[in-house]
Amino acid sequence: RPVLARHGAPWTLFVTSGFADQAGRLWWIELEHAIARLDRVRIDIGSRSVDLPARSPQEKALAFEVVYRDLRRGREADLLDRIAELCRQAGFPPGRIASELCLSWAELRDLAADPAVTIGAHTVSHPMLAKHDAAFAAHEIAEGRARIEAELGRTVRHLSYPVGDPTSAGPREFALAREMGFATAVTTRPGHLFAEHAAHLQALPRVSVNGCHQTGAALAGLLSGVPFLAWNRGRRVNVA
Ligand SMILES: [Zn+2]
Repeated sequence: RPVLARHGAPWTLFVTSGFADQAGRLWWIELEHAIARLDRVRIDIGSRSVDLPARSPQEKALAFEVVYRDLRRGREADLLDRIAELCRQAGFPPGRIASELCLSWAELRDLAADPAVTIGAHTVSHPMLAKHDAAFAAHEIAEGRARIEAELGRTVRHLSYPVGDPTSAGPREFALAREMGFATAVTTRPGHLFAEHAAHLQALPRVSVNGCHQTGAALAGLLSGVPFLAWNRGRRVNVA
């Protein structure tokens, strides 16, 4: 916040209302914490048994990649069960991370008072919406927004789809966001913005700047747009 303020940059924070209630599962962080504590990762994923060493940082990174990838492919309930099991193996209860890491409503009210800050919606419990039925997806989006509006006393006009890749947000979610009156909604589909996106404001692409891309050279590469043209096979708009 102070860095962005120094540069006069406006920014948007997307809030998962359940996390602000200090509840729910930040399962990807639970998985990271569990593998950090375990020397071996033993888990059944579907009909497959995974048994991987996790002593060195390299082994831990590889185990995370394998388990994350395989669990993301399946049902969300299975993912949550398996990661809860790994948390218990690692000696901590699942479901504690929201209270440790996430901003409370009082902290969010303080941020929301800053004119440079826009608060957006990010559902109630951060599900991969496209893996669930339409009624559940609609409820998650609408309730998440309603809760923020009640807590912060302001209208919420922007949405971010949890996880945000094509297996989590697709045309059905884009239509829901449009019908619910969101001015914009962002995916994590990689890409730059083009004029054509004016017709797809509820399916906007994103340039992700995260722990993997924090060098100046990596950032310059991302901002050039070249990696995304390759990723999107030359298409400017990817909303199917
Ligand atoms: Zn998220």
